Amino acid sequence: MTLDVAIVGGSFAGLTAALQLGRASRTVTVFDTGRPRNAASPAAHGVPGWDGRPPFEILAAIRKDAAAYPTVSFADHAVTGLSGEADAFRLTTAGGEVTARRVILACGVTDRLPDIQGLAEGWGKWALHCPYCHGYEVKGRPLAILGKGPMALHMARMLRTDWSADVTLIAQDDLGPDSEDEARALDVTLRRSHLVQAVAEGDGAQLTLADGSDLFTAGLFLHGETSFAAPFIADLGLTTRPGPTGPYLATSDFKVTSRAGIFAAGDITRPAGVVTPALADGVIAGTAAHQSLLWPERFPPNTESRP
Ligand SMILES: Cc1cc2nc3c(=O)[nH]c(=O)nc-3n(C[C@H](O)[C@H](O)[C@H](O)COP(=O)(O)OP(=O)(O)OC[C@H]3O[C@@H](n4cnc5c(N)ncnc54)[C@H](O)[C@@H]3O)c2cc1C
Repeated sequence: MTLDVAIVGGSFAGLTAALQLGRASRTVTVFDTGRPRNAASPAAHGVPGWDGRPPFEILAAIRKDAAAYPTVSFADHAVTGLSGEADAFRLTTAGGEVTARRVILACGVTDRLPDIQGLAEGWGKWALHCPYCHGYEVKGRPLAILGKGPMALHMARMLRTDWSADVTLIAQDDLGPDSEDEARALDVTLRRSHLVQAVAEGDGAQLTLADGSDLFTAGLFLHGETSFAAPFIADLGLTTRPGPTGPYLATSDFKVTSRAGIFAAGDITRPAGVVTPALADGVIAGTAAHQSLLWPERFPPNTESRP
């Protein structure tokens, strides 16, 4: 049987797309390997109606909603390849080959952290990427930033202004010509020594710098580098844009990628992802993929070649 739509990735974006398609009684299978980007976090914040709830609890509820529609099915394994064209896509999956008329890529990105001892264990707990997602929980406590490039002072200004009076910026590179003056003006402690080790302590971490000094932090803010979570995405030749942490897929307003019939939603299409836009993307991609079955000419591939 050829599916109407195959969805690669069954997290916030993919499950929401499935919900829309199920409500149109279209056949859809959601392929998923079960590792949402925020899997390491005990709680997701800033998600209306779900603020502070465990990510897997939110996902289980959305999946239950989608599963109520009889044309929606789930395959909890990986998609490893995609070929063919609109109306006749072929997906290689761990469970065999599947054909589909449309595909929605909602398989997200993965974060590659700096190679510093102890950092990976703290990711999502005290090693944090976003003050909106996790800053309130460490408000007023000693905070640190693993600083690289111009975003380091941007983060320093945010944290020092609205989250804590005790902010240390650990400079992993020279941070630009005016960094000393800017850090002083912000009343942020600038440490020009590399972080070499982080050890969990209480609900924070003890950080050791290359100069032998150490400091405690309740939250160490940093940005890793991102890459597409599914390796086969790189083989599709889709147009990408460079983001601050890594590339993301360029799509039209209807979430069509640069290939007809292939839609994309969620973090895979965004320079900086959070849950709520991923949910919204799922609605747009799901409804657009559905309507493209009725009016294919209204959903042309994205031809924009913005760098
Ligand atoms: C540590 C951390 C904490 C965060 N906390 C928050 C927060 O508090 N609030 C907030 O709004 N946002 C938060 N975010 C951002 C949030 O996690 C993402 O915006 C959101 O998960 C994106 O949803 P998505 O559906 O696009 O992708 P993801 O949630 O990353 O899901 C992608 C899915 O695709 C699956 N997949 C990957 N490859 C394949 C394949 N080949 N075949 C089949 N399936 C595949 C994965 O297993 C995964 O289930 C956080 C991010 C991080 C890194």
